[in-house]
Parts: sequence; structure tokens; C-alpha cells
Amino acid sequence: MSIAPSSLRVAIVGSGPAGFYAAESLQKAAPGIAIDLIDRLPTPFGLVRGGVAPDHPKIKSVTRVFERIATQPGFRYLGHVRVGEDVTVNELRARYHALLLCYGAETDRLLGIPGESLAGSHAATEFVAWYNGHPDYAGATFDLTQREVAVVGIGNVAMDVARILAKPPQLLAATDLADHALQALATSQVQTIHIIARRGPVQAACTTPELRELGELDGVDVVVDPRDLELDAASEAELAAMEDRNPAKNLDVLREWAARPLTGAPRRVVMHFNASPVALHGTTRVERLTIVRNRLEADGRGGVRAVATDETHDLSVGLVFRSVGYRGKALPGVPFDDRAGVVPNLNGHVVEGAGSQAVVPGLYVAGWIKRGPQGIIGTNKLCAADTVTQLLADVAAGQIPAVRDDLPSIDALLAERGVSVTSWTDWQTLDKAEQARGAAAGRPRVKLTNVAEMLEIVAAHR
Ligand code: NAP
Repeated sequence: MSIAPSSLRVAIVGSGPAGFYAAESLQKAAPGIAIDLIDRLPTPFGLVRGGVAPDHPKIKSVTRVFERIATQPGFRYLGHVRVGEDVTVNELRARYHALLLCYGAETDRLLGIPGESLAGSHAATEFVAWYNGHPDYAGATFDLTQREVAVVGIGNVAMDVARILAKPPQLLAATDLADHALQALATSQVQTIHIIARRGPVQAACTTPELRELGELDGVDVVVDPRDLELDAASEAELAAMEDRNPAKNLDVLREWAARPLTGAPRRVVMHFNASPVALHGTTRVERLTIVRNRLEADGRGGVRAVATDETHDLSVGLVFRSVGYRGKALPGVPFDDRAGVVPNLNGHVVEGAGSQAVVPGLYVAGWIKRGPQGIIGTNKLCAADTVTQLLADVAAGQIPAVRDDLPSIDALLAERGVSVTSWTDWQTLDKAEQARGAAAGRPRVKLTNVAEMLEIVAAHR
């Protein structure tokens, strides 16, 4: 079907960075284009609100860019709409020329080891969602009476979790950390946080500023065994071949920590390199974690892999956070690559299955559900722009399906189903309410964590 870009009706699912950047790319190409940005929560911004650490306000300030995008002509926010439940993907596809899925990677990955389901063993993603006030996790509990905790993985999420556990509570009070988490962390008895990295310092996934922060916390000693920093031949070769300076900078930070005398601070972060968890033990809850020493070897593809030795060691931890990556979920009516945990696509155009070249007309993806859970917020800008370029190329080639104007509109459909859709103005009401609560408590904001309460506030202000 031939149509001008400015006449397109586009729905975007998910209001995180990929969703907003996709909207921005569309607006740049076709000012005034009709975009409905759909999210299951009345509060927008996805992981910027529910994932970025509360003590990283600068990273969160990207929401100002998103606010500008949301106030462009043609843009609507349809909050509190669950795609797949309140409305199906096919119902959306019938009403929009293009449906762009940007719903991220909502679940976590498992370690696949015995004892993983014991009480006290959690996904780091749950802890992150809890301290950030995500409504789905506001009722979660974490036993912070434990003295020793393990965080498995050494990506930036592991850094965030370790830092929030180690940071003095009075510093957290100056952030928008959820109230329930602030109260729980204020009485936390956690003293030792073990970070378990399956490979060596050269392969650590975290970025240097995030790593360095751990060593700058008041009342925290960081413990690094200098022997872990002696590089094996495979890591030496990998480091020498790397263009990315981050691993070398991480090594500098770790070397400085290894040389630091311990101060007897009340909290300690202990780095364990070349170590993998093999089992969690306990009768009713986690009491112990067995880790195995790994040796590293070249994987034959320019990388380095961990191979378990027979040397094991127990840590008496009572709480374990697995921080080994997020994972995308399937959405009914959309092809899914279960192995990779993404929606299969060619340049953002959804295809019928992994490895297929057969595109699904009018269906696109951007962000983590397109490329997997990697990269910083800015990575999504390019990713979304690439998808929009593909979408516009399809428009130019006349390969965009027609919409069904004989059907009830999306608004009518949702109203008929009793869905209380919230708008951008409603979000602005919630935003003001959170900031007012924050001002009263001397904090930047106090987050609303209950959807029913959000809807009440919205209804009272309409
Ligand atoms: P990530 O960066 O992919 O790190 C995952 C970690 O888990 C790696 O250390 C990985 O080790 C390890 N791992 C995976 N499978 C494992 C297993 N079976 N056993 C033991 N360890 C295992 O993921 P993430 O920390 O969830 O972060 C996701 C993305 O968000 C990243 O791109 C991150 O940079 C970004 N992020 C950025 C910020 C920030 O900029 N401040 C904050 C949070 C998140 P291997 O390397 O050996 O696989």
C-alpha cells in the first residue's frame, strides 16, 4: 500500500528508551506523525525509572529528552494498557500501519544449579525493580538480616546491586529509592558482599565508572586478591588485541584496590574472579554457596572461556542475587526466538522465525527485545533509528499493510473493555504528586508504587 510517512499511524509498545527514541526518529522523519506509545504502567520510561540506580540521577535525566518527544504534535501516551491482555497484537496491527515493539527484556536468566530456588536466592532484576519502586515488586521481601551476601555476575547490574547494598543508608535517603526499600535498607545487617565473576578481570562486563564507585563508598573496604590480577596467557592476548579501553581501566582500578590496606570498615565488598557458583545449600533457605575455581583458556574465536577445575570453596552467605543478565519474553501473536530470548528480525523488521527471511508486514522491534539485553541507554537511540529507517524504507516501497478503518478505534475498543487508559497529562499529575511527596520528605521524589493508588490520584485530578 502506498502512503506518505506523515499519514502513518504507528503504535509503539513499551515506553523505555527504545520506545521513546523510536518515536523521536519517526517525528524527525515525519513531523506530526500519529504515534500512540503504549505501556502497561501509568508511569513511563521503562528501565530509566525501574532499572537505572536511584543514586545515578544524571543517567535518569534523559527523561527530559523523552518529555520533549512526548509533547510533540501527534504523540499520545496510552498508559495502563497491557498488550496481549487488554488488546491483542493482531487487534493493534489491524488499526496501525506499523506496530513497533520496544517492550524490553523483562525476565531474568537462571544459573541452572541445585538450590537455586531456595528462599534467599533471588534474581538481581527483582531486587532492582523492588528498590526502584516497580509496582510488580513493591511487595517483594529480601532478608537483609543476613550478614553475608553473594552477587553472581560482574556486569553493571551486579555493580548497582552491590553498591545499593553497601552504601550508607543516609546517602540513599537523598535519592528517589522507593520508600519501602529505604526503610528495609536502613536496618540492613549486610556486612560482606561477595561478587562472583566466572572469568577474570579482563573479561569483567562492568564499565569502569561503575566499578570505581564501589571503592569510593564511605565505610566500605574492597577486597581484591592480587593473585586474581595476574593474567593468564589467553587474557593477556585478549587484552592486547582489544580496542575497547574499558578492561585496561578496570584492571587499573582493581590493581589500586589490591594494593590498598584494609581499614576495618563496617562493610566489605569481596571480589572473586575465576569462580562460578555450583550449588546453593540450606534446609529451608540459603545458608551456603559452593563456588568452583575456573581456569581460563582461549575459546578459538578470539575470546576467553572459563573451564571449571576441581577446586571448590564454600561461602556462608544467606542471600544470593544472580545478576547474569536479563531475558526477553514472548508476546502472544509475535514470533519469538526462544534460544536468544529476542523477537527474530532483520534490521528491526520482524521475521517469521529465527533464521527466516520472511518478514511480518508492519511489525517491527527495537531495543533489548530486538538485540538482547546489552548496551547503555544511548545504544537504543541508534538501534531505534535503524528500525525506523527500515520501516520508512518499507513505506517508500509500498510494503506497509493497509489499516482497517471499518473497525472500532483503539480508544473505543479499550473503553468497551473497561480499561482505564491513562494519558501523558495523567503521568504529569503523578509526576507532580511524587515530587510533592518528595519535597515534604526532603527527597527528590517519593515514588508511587501501587497502580490502584496511581489511578485514584489520576481520577481525582481529571
Ligand atoms: P551483562 O553486562 O551482560 O553482565 C552479565 C554478567 O553475568 C557477566 O559478568 C557474565 O559473565 C555473567 N554471567 C552470565 N552467565 C553466567 C553464569 N551462568 N554464571 C556466572 N556468571 C554468568 O548484564 P547486566 O549486568 O544485566 O547488564 C545488562 C546491560 O545493562 C549491560 O549492557 C549493562 O552495561 C547495562 N547497564 C548499564 C548500567 C550503567 O550504565 N550504569 C547499569 C546497569 C545496566 P561473562 O562475561 O563471563 O558472560
